[in-house]
Amino acid sequence: MTSRPYFQRSAQLFETLSSEDVATALLNISKASYSKVSDERIKTLMKHIKVVGEHVMGSTHSRSTLRTKIHSLCFNLGLPSLFVIINPVDIHSLVTLYFAGVDLDLDRFLPEVLCTIYGRAQIIATQPVATAKIFNCLIKSILKCLVCGGVLGPTKASFGTVESQGRGSLDLHLLIWLKHEYTPAQLKENIQNQDFRDNLLKYLEDVVKEDLDVFRDETNDGTNTASDIRVSIQETDPITYEVVPACLSTPNPASDDFHRIFCKDVVRLVETSNIHKHSTTCYKYSKGKSDTSKTCRMRMPRVLVKTSNIDLSTGQITMRRSHPWINNFNEWLIMYYITDYVTKSTLAFYDMFALAQQGVKSIEQQRVTNSIDNAIEKSRKLVLRCYNMIASQQELSDVQVASYLMNYDDHYTTHALRNLFYYLN
Ligand SMILES: [Zn+2]
Repeated sequence: MTSRPYFQRSAQLFETLSSEDVATALLNISKASYSKVSDERIKTLMKHIKVVGEHVMGSTHSRSTLRTKIHSLCFNLGLPSLFVIINPVDIHSLVTLYFAGVDLDLDRFLPEVLCTIYGRAQIIATQPVATAKIFNCLIKSILKCLVCGGVLGPTKASFGTVESQGRGSLDLHLLIWLKHEYTPAQLKENIQNQDFRDNLLKYLEDVVKEDLDVFRDETNDGTNTASDIRVSIQETDPITYEVVPACLSTPNPASDDFHRIFCKDVVRLVETSNIHKHSTTCYKYSKGKSDTSKTCRMRMPRVLVKTSNIDLSTGQITMRRSHPWINNFNEWLIMYYITDYVTKSTLAFYDMFALAQQGVKSIEQQRVTNSIDNAIEKSRKLVLRCYNMIASQQELSDVQVASYLMNYDDHYTTHALRNLFYYLN
């Protein structure tokens, strides 16, 4: 970067930049209702810090370059149709335990090797590489077999970014472009047609479920359901009472009775892992509000709807739902045990400024003793110092670090994207 012609001009700008200037900008940001900086020198500094950060794995800046890639896919293919979060529950996964070195037979379920939930969490917390490995393996197979395999209908593209959650493990935020050529305006126009409307609802009901009715109907053959199974395990064997359905192996598609077993499994999984319970994250945008005016940001509990319908004037789609607390799910994807997710806080705009100010200040102090460097070298040190200040405050979980060290991707996409560089003189 420093050898490029444009850096000459930046170096001249930085000659006059002092930590007080950044402090003034910071003060102005805190007073203004929206974040805007008018000082050309500070804008240039932040721009260069971003360029450095873009080349650092896992940095806030390198994450923001993924947004550019998503934008280019939108330019190329139009708006994405579906947003899916895939959040594997590693602590109940036999395969994670296997990767973590626990001696078990993946084809034969033996409850005694599973330990307690706490025991499993302990093993997994000490094995971030195993968690990163299972995540990579699972996401690749979900994308290849299910998403590209057409479980949500034919797709033309997908783009998923790997995020780290509060508890340190990874999840995938996935955008999917379905294979149809309708723009939002065309969709709105087409829903005036009864056939189109019926088909659209049929499709949506097929890929998104909001209650367990269809699965209960299929399993209603007089045998036990989820809650009964848990009780009976509890009664017969005290060691295994913590066995959650997500620990059990998935049904074998070759089995004659696969469909019924599959439906039963879906009921079990949803009942134990996919029913919303309010937590502090539900109210993270309701800070300062009184308890009565706080609303759950997941919009739970939801209103019950008898039949799915589309409002012709607004285009709003309301899906049928007979359960107020179930998180929407797709039965094939939930086989991979998707749960609530918690997003990790990243550095805010003003935090970056405060840290950059510390960087400028520490360089100023150094300049007193070392004044022989030329303008370019001084500026290079300034940008690097500021970047390091910011990077030192960024939180990275052990699983994230393990994932980067194993050379796993921080995003998964169906398309190859190339960067184009240009600068104006
Ligand atoms: Zn809630």
